Amino acid sequence: MDTTLFLQGLWETSLRIIFPPKCLICHTYYAWQPSAGSPASDTVSDITAPYFCESCREDLTPIASPFCSKCGVPFVSREGVDHGCSECVLERRHFRKARAFGVYDGNLMQAIHLFKYGNKTSLSRPLSALARKTFFQFWEQNSIDLVVPVPLHMKRLRERGFNQAHLVVRRWVTQEDIPFDGLTLSRSRWTEPQTNLSRADRRKNIKGAFSLRHPERIKGQRILLVDDVYTTGATVNECAKVLMKAGAEFVDVLTLARAV
Ligand SMILES: [Zn+2]
Ligand SMILES: [Zn+2]
Repeated sequence: MDTTLFLQGLWETSLRIIFPPKCLICHTYYAWQPSAGSPASDTVSDITAPYFCESCREDLTPIASPFCSKCGVPFVSREGVDHGCSECVLERRHFRKARAFGVYDGNLMQAIHLFKYGNKTSLSRPLSALARKTFFQFWEQNSIDLVVPVPLHMKRLRERGFNQAHLVVRRWVTQEDIPFDGLTLSRSRWTEPQTNLSRADRRKNIKGAFSLRHPERIKGQRILLVDDVYTTGATVNECAKVLMKAGAEFVDVLTLARAV
């Protein structure tokens, strides 16, 4: 082995022993060593290991088939093939398909909460790694022309200081050379938080909240709309409506979590 590499490995190992990583979810210190030399693994546990302890990583499970081929909601029955759910049959979806990394509960919910409301922006790294993994699971890299985050209203952006949808994709889409546009779609109307609203009220509340600064940038584009959580789909559906009206070829949706 190369002496420099050996010394570097020794140095990193000593650092990990003196300063073990602290789990970003439960805040306990845990043992973890980067596995130098072995091929990079793409499992959920491995990509989140530098940030979450083993027990917090355990319930981070990706959504698996069968799920709704349109909105991505996992079906209770764990048998059978993907098909449309009853809500997608009844409600008009302006997007083509929506996919999420995992179900919005347990540690994934906790991590998203800490990230958004607890100002823990360091969580953007593991969450971004999960978003990237989900993207490559459901899309071909060259099947998307433009990545657009669901925008926040300027007032909310000032309060929070960052747009969570922006942070979970910005870094890797730039690395993968996928064009990113965080300016064209904007939230022009202030809306009350959707959290305590019914499905119908969410739709009403969000109606007309979005507009486009440069509609010509959207025409003919295959768009990937990104948000942190898909709850009833009212927000992403409203964004997709605006983007489709401006002539997008299609709008697909990627979120970290999916409420069920
Ligand atoms: Zn933990
Ligand atoms: Zn559905």
